[in-house]
Amino acid sequence: MNQFEQNVINSFGLARKDINELYENVKFILEQVAELKQENARLSKQLNITKKTVSKKYIASKTGSKVHSPGCVFAKNIKQKNKKVFSTKTKALNEGFKLCNCLAY
Ligand SMILES: [Zn+2]
Repeated sequence: MNQFEQNVINSFGLARKDINELYENVKFILEQVAELKQENARLSKQLNITKKTVSKKYIASKTGSKVHSPGCVFAKNIKQKNKKVFSTKTKALNEGFKLCNCLAY
């Protein structure tokens, strides 16, 4: 076996070692990804529950200029037919409503 052949064989040996290491790394990463996917699924489930519990409504009167939280005494005084419900403050603000003190925290 000449030097060239020896070099080629050594190179293949090294490459195979690298590939094995690479393969181990990929396996490790795939395991991590699988774990992260599970964690992600768990967290988004929790997030959905949280979203449901904190989903707020904002209430304005068609005849008024302010938007209120549902618990506000002014919101409770708004007649059903004049009630306007927003899912976000921004939507109410975009329609020209001002925030009542009950929302100013
Ligand atoms: Zn209010």
